[in-house]
Amino acid sequence: MDLRKESLAQLPGVGPKRLESLESLGIKNIYDLLFYFPFRYEDMEAKSLDQAVDQEKILLKGVVASEPILARFGYKKTRLNVRILTEGESIMVTFFNQPWLKDKFETGQDAAVYGKWNEARRSLTGMKVIDVNSDDSIDSVYSVNKSIRQKTLIGLIKSAFEKYHDRIDTVVPEYLRQKYKLLDDEQIVEGIHFPKSEEQSDEARRSAKFREFFLFQCGLQSIKLKDSQKNVGITEWYDHEVIKKFINDLSFTLTTAQDRVVNEILKDMESDHHMNRLLQGDVGSGKTIVSVIAMLASVTAGYQAAIMAPTEILAQQHFDKISKLLEPLKIRTAILTGSQTKKEHDFITQDIREGKTNVIVGTHALIQDSVDFKNLGLIVIDEQHRFGVNQRKAMREKDNNPDVLAMTATPIPRTLAITTYGDMDVSRIDQLPAGRKKIETYWIRSQKIEQMYHFVTKELAGGAQVYVVTPLISESEKMDLKNAELIYDKFTELFGQKYKIGLLHGQMPNDQKESIMQDFSTKKIDVLVSTTVIEVGVDVPNATVMVIYDANRFGLSQLHQLRGRVGRGDKQSYCILIADPKNEAAVERMKILTSTNDGFVLAEQDLKMRGSGDMLGNRQSGLPEFKVGNPINDINILEVAQEEAKRLYDDKANLDSPEVRNLKSFINDEYEQLNNFD
Ligand code: ADP
Ligand code: MG
Repeated sequence: MDLRKESLAQLPGVGPKRLESLESLGIKNIYDLLFYFPFRYEDMEAKSLDQAVDQEKILLKGVVASEPILARFGYKKTRLNVRILTEGESIMVTFFNQPWLKDKFETGQDAAVYGKWNEARRSLTGMKVIDVNSDDSIDSVYSVNKSIRQKTLIGLIKSAFEKYHDRIDTVVPEYLRQKYKLLDDEQIVEGIHFPKSEEQSDEARRSAKFREFFLFQCGLQSIKLKDSQKNVGITEWYDHEVIKKFINDLSFTLTTAQDRVVNEILKDMESDHHMNRLLQGDVGSGKTIVSVIAMLASVTAGYQAAIMAPTEILAQQHFDKISKLLEPLKIRTAILTGSQTKKEHDFITQDIREGKTNVIVGTHALIQDSVDFKNLGLIVIDEQHRFGVNQRKAMREKDNNPDVLAMTATPIPRTLAITTYGDMDVSRIDQLPAGRKKIETYWIRSQKIEQMYHFVTKELAGGAQVYVVTPLISESEKMDLKNAELIYDKFTELFGQKYKIGLLHGQMPNDQKESIMQDFSTKKIDVLVSTTVIEVGVDVPNATVMVIYDANRFGLSQLHQLRGRVGRGDKQSYCILIADPKNEAAVERMKILTSTNDGFVLAEQDLKMRGSGDMLGNRQSGLPEFKVGNPINDINILEVAQEEAKRLYDDKANLDSPEVRNLKSFINDEYEQLNNFD
């Protein structure tokens, strides 16, 4: 019998009130309680001050050095201040809205506090007080709230374990437990809550991590499986000869990596299963041409193909390129954007509906209800992370379940790819076209800005084109514009006599943006000062210098994206970061950028620097929450778990074996909700 159907009310001392407080921790039944694990071990190791990282969580041990002071303010709000002396430094620890913690501190006594470190103030925003005198090893600390105490919770877990331990069904199949020497679920629960030794605790945690990751991956796999059963995809019998000739006639040779992903994609399109593929490739790796080949294939099979880009500038640029490539093959292309007049729009959509247009390039205007396709076979989503989940979904559900190719230039760290894109197949272009040179990156402080002017002078004289980018300084577009205008004025003053300076910003009407972009790509403009509207996608190979103002305001990945606007041809390119970073982390970011051009390395670093402690539950990082496992530190376990889940779901026979019965029913129940997962 399933412990998830067993009520907590059966435990001694659990009445309506306690039920409520357990529920507030997300514990709804016996199963939840038994698997309510103490929070992570790694975080709970006391650290010394020199290991403390700004804005990351840390456990500090020391001696209470001041009487705790409780202040009340506002409605029901409190602030508790206490000083903890550690390694000879007196650290201010502040707890908000946990007035009851006051009693935990007594001057001169030992204390251990867990919280978020502020490097500039050398203070801690406290989250929990750890009982230094308890026998429990420091790792078995449960996350509790006002309504229930640690002791009570542990008591409940104990009685639940005594009563139900022989009914804990193991979900990870036997063959995997043998292969990786994993404990069964009863042993896991026991070893994590009541370890008798450190080894037992470690072993239980390792098994629990595998279990957690494995179940998650199985959830993704089962979604994928259901998806493929539900939507039998389109079989696109494309014309191999046309494709071959098209590739041969290109002005360049595809890289080995491009060749490989083209094959992966075409194979998918030709099979009857529904393609849901992510094409990942660093900036400049040449994803566009890969998507054009896929679209061409779709058209030769008698279908329409569409590509959706996040900005009008990019859509326009794609359209120019794609129509130039495909029109000679008598393929009709069209562009659809939000800025077209109603008349134009109606005209274009009619052709799309009647199937007169084969390849449609557009912005999110493509997903409007008024756009019907005759027979859409493939939809390409460029810079897919720029679209909301719903937009992507709407596009996918257009017409008769077209194959989907989602592209991203933002390198997705392995962890992220495994955890959030597990239900997609991933193709990766891990190679740049031959002849590309490493972009040389320099970081200067704003007081040395003259150096940048000198450099730009020299480069312009050599015929180079220059991007100058300024960040989103405030939430207001107006402010950004002002900033960009100031810089534009400065460049005009310095270089305006000899060179043409252009200004591009988000508030311009689209046709104006387009014509400026056009002028830049035809070298009518030499220096383009811009807000971040140029961030994604644009491709002007002759531009070889990228100057980024206030670079410390951008994240690593975004800086890498921006830098990727240069270095797109065979000329030596440069990126100059102007930044006055205010903290260590920002200094570190500048240093990493100057030292590597590898988007994958950068993305991993980015994720790491946000802090593994902070990352869990941090929506921004895009990672799902795990209870015991940490996708960064435990990447090896995660990878193995993914592999095994894939292998299991890849073969129907495996899934029918009695060995995985528990697993299957668990996944079915637990991951129903994941059906809406994107
Ligand atoms: P991204 O992957 O960042 O979208 P693009 O598709 O815009 O990159 O390609 C960047 C540039 O490289 C374009 O000018 C494109 O024509 C060129 N390119 C693509 N593939 C190759 C190749 N195999 N050899 C040389 N140049 C290529
Ligand atoms: Mg691109």
